[in-house]
Amino acid sequence: MKKVTDHVEELLSAYIDHELTEEEAHRVRDHIKTCESCRETLYSLQHVRDQLHDAYEKVEVPASLEQAVMASIAVLERKTGVANGFGIWLAGVISLIVMGATAALMAPILIAIAKFLYKLAGIGIKIWQTVPIVVGAIPYFTVILYGATIILIIVSVGLLLRLRFTGSYDRRELL
Ligand SMILES: [Zn+2]
Repeated sequence: MKKVTDHVEELLSAYIDHELTEEEAHRVRDHIKTCESCRETLYSLQHVRDQLHDAYEKVEVPASLEQAVMASIAVLERKTGVANGFGIWLAGVISLIVMGATAALMAPILIAIAKFLYKLAGIGIKIWQTVPIVVGAIPYFTVILYGATIILIIVSVGLLLRLRFTGSYDRRELL
């Protein structure tokens, strides 16, 4: 039986990440059987790790959106050739950012606007005095949002067109 003072705190983080040698991992498993202090530390570390993992999963792009973009990339790759893969990936990543940002920004805004208009209707006619202010502000913000989205889409399309142009130019040069 090992001494209780032979603690393994410095190995616990690596133990959770499966980065220890078999010998070290065995030492940790052996030790936490008898040492409550190190066992508690291990559970705390695992808890923090799990929470970080959960938080990471929650901010991940929805799988359906990712699949849609990946499918588009696959189609583009078939049309333009595997050699242009990097450019397609670049355009794909930009499209993903555009779509993700648009979805993430538009959904809460639309819900907020809908809720606000619903409240307006419920509260009554006095509130209609504030409508010009709200209506004046919402289109302005929406225009900026759509404008930024359109610019990013144009950039993605431009990248793709430049890629295709460069491809055909190179072929002509080879002939
Ligand atoms: Zn210990």
